[in-house]
Amino acid sequence: MCTVCNNPKHFLQGKSPLLSRRSILKTIGAGGLFAGLGSLVIPAASASSDLIPKPSNLLTPDQALARLIEGNKRFMQGAMTPFNVIKERNLLVDGQNPFACVLACADSRVSPEFVFDEELGDLFVTRVAGNYVTNDILASLEYAVAELKAPLIMVMGHTECGAIKAAIKAFDDDYDFPGHIQVITSALARAVRVGRSRKEDIARTNVKLNVINLIDATPVISKYVSQGRVKVVGGLYDLKTGNVEIVT
Ligand SMILES: [Zn+2]
Repeated sequence: MCTVCNNPKHFLQGKSPLLSRRSILKTIGAGGLFAGLGSLVIPAASASSDLIPKPSNLLTPDQALARLIEGNKRFMQGAMTPFNVIKERNLLVDGQNPFACVLACADSRVSPEFVFDEELGDLFVTRVAGNYVTNDILASLEYAVAELKAPLIMVMGHTECGAIKAAIKAFDDDYDFPGHIQVITSALARAVRVGRSRKEDIARTNVKLNVINLIDATPVISKYVSQGRVKVVGGLYDLKTGNVEIVT
């Protein structure tokens, strides 16, 4: 039985997984929490009303990145962690506390939950073909950082990206794609221009530019980054190997 909400469903493996940050501190004490979770530092602006269905997701930015890298290693090896989807789904009905955000391409081959071997409620994912920052995506990421206290954002591009190829074709051949596709190629034109000037792979350049866009995004993400509460990193997923290379 959960001692916080009296809901028997919230009692899992001998402890309640659905706790507020305040109740965690009240139950085991701040010293106990820090002792139990090593170098964990809880973001200072934690709200007492926040629900924490997954205490194991309370991580520093560096811990969050290390967890993504470890999960990606399991994915590369095909050694994915099995999980009980019904148990996870029930656990997350009343709240979420993802430990990382991923801005990924919409490409069907680069699903972040698979790539990082994570479960429901672990990743806050925004996707658009070409994995670039739009106003809508920025708003979503601001919500994840400010309200859900996610400590890490990864911009993840990938090899053989159709959006990048389209952007190069539009740039080189002055080609107009039909419908709204041109919106994407126009948004990626700067990456093509900068990548060419650097003699760098355009997908890699695009990741780096969008990491900078997020780090500089005022007023929310830039503030959290400057305070050290959030890190923004860039990754490049290799379709062949499954490896996510950290590029910035
Ligand atoms: Zn793509």
